[in-house]
Amino acid sequence: MANYARHLTATPQSRPLPGQVPNSGGGFAFQISCWDRLDRFLILGCEGGSYYAGERKLTIENAQCILECAKADPGRTVGRIAEISTSGRAPKNDPAIFALAFLAAQPGIVSGYALDIGLPKVCRTGTHLFQFVEIVTQLRGWGRALRRGVANWYTSKDDEKLAMQVTKYAQRNGWSHRDLLRLAHPVGKNPGQRDVFQYIAQRDKWLNSKKAGTRTLVMVEEAKTASLTRLKRLINDEGLVREHIPTERLNEPTIWEALLENMPITALMRNLNKLTSTGVVAPLSAGTRRAVELLTDKELLKRGRVHPYNLLVALKTYQQGHGTLGNLRWTPVPQITAALEDAFYLAFETIQPTGKNHLFAIDVSGSMSWSAIGNSPIKCSTAAAVLAMVGLRAEPNSYAFGFADRFRDLGINKYDRLDAVERKVQASTFGSTDCAKAYNYALMHKMDVDAFVILTDNETNTGHIHPTQALRNYRKAMGKPEARAIVVGMTATEFSVAEPSDPFQLDVVGFDSAAPAIIADFVRGFSVRGDEAQDD
Ligand code: CA
Repeated sequence: MANYARHLTATPQSRPLPGQVPNSGGGFAFQISCWDRLDRFLILGCEGGSYYAGERKLTIENAQCILECAKADPGRTVGRIAEISTSGRAPKNDPAIFALAFLAAQPGIVSGYALDIGLPKVCRTGTHLFQFVEIVTQLRGWGRALRRGVANWYTSKDDEKLAMQVTKYAQRNGWSHRDLLRLAHPVGKNPGQRDVFQYIAQRDKWLNSKKAGTRTLVMVEEAKTASLTRLKRLINDEGLVREHIPTERLNEPTIWEALLENMPITALMRNLNKLTSTGVVAPLSAGTRRAVELLTDKELLKRGRVHPYNLLVALKTYQQGHGTLGNLRWTPVPQITAALEDAFYLAFETIQPTGKNHLFAIDVSGSMSWSAIGNSPIKCSTAAAVLAMVGLRAEPNSYAFGFADRFRDLGINKYDRLDAVERKVQASTFGSTDCAKAYNYALMHKMDVDAFVILTDNETNTGHIHPTQALRNYRKAMGKPEARAIVVGMTATEFSVAEPSDPFQLDVVGFDSAAPAIIADFVRGFSVRGDEAQDD
């Protein structure tokens, strides 16, 4: 007998379901809302493009989406940009700065929101401010609103903090603080600020007139000619940082020992190579002990907005034993690589395990061989697999496998080291894509799944049935109508295999450091989760 009903419950992926649009992989998917797309862009960015679309195309599409959000609700848009930026949920601040600068260049109220509300929150360092100005001045001229916004950046800071900012981040992309003072004309609100402004604009005059101005500036100037002993004291007692140390002193192990004592974690991640090559970090050294202590302090990781993705990149770079530029070489200390791996897991928002049965399905099709997040050394498939590792370690009842056009056993378990995970996944990354595989496989094997977590770029293009139909079939056949499906998007496109009208399917953004916690809440039963903004 002909099975006519299957035509209603199974549509081949070569044809769209109602409401679907063509994805870039030759198949069809649902279009996510502009708000969801804004989140994807803010967290993943689109530097380096995707497997299917170039950086330029994706940037234009995302800019259109940002504008669509801003037209609908400028306050919410700028608020979201600021929230993702200040909470440290994104690996890089660049997409937030771009989004904000793009809005600052729009006419009227949108620009006002961006400059008055967004700028002080998103551009927290001098470097951020230079990046912002670099983008915004390509899109618009120096009007009154932009001058006021930039001037406020300077005058809203306490003078010692301001002195630290302008000496630590002196210039970038051809912009300096002196340029910005000349263009924005901030007026110092107190003698301390006026002192810093004079230091920026007329340093010679500042040096000649007095040496008893802002304490930080006096110390920074003293450091330029200080003896080794005095320099160590300036670091330990006065809080001077690496950027304040004269270049010729940066080969002195004792200077690095002093710097390491209170080094911010992001600086530590950048300088592990130098610390190791100078011998400060060595097997069983005091430096190693201190570095491990700092790297595995969950509170410090949180306060420093250290993102797990950047720890993964630091781990990979450190393990290589040499930099990509220059000729610095070092012998990686195993205690440090282990600490970076611990830090990777610690940097995610804390998860309360649900105890539910989780199936993690990792897309290892060919398109996932593209770099995740910019031109990084991490592929999308590796990124997806290490995110699955976070789930495997948190949830006692969980299983992970790979899929392309068919099931691929990756053999990863929660005790695997990250480099082993990467090896296993990279060897399997090839082929076309069927995002329905997890549901079909679970049904075929009568697996009891409470939550499917599909980690993919959503470029599904192969298979006799669409993912959302396969999920419905699974629910019906297994008598589990509320089985959850969480689609973790690994690229900043507008596509998802999750059906937006299904309350038990959810889109989250890959490498959102809050994603594992959001997934756990969704699986536990909350469909919406409030986001905590944490400013500095
Ligand atoms: Ca693919």
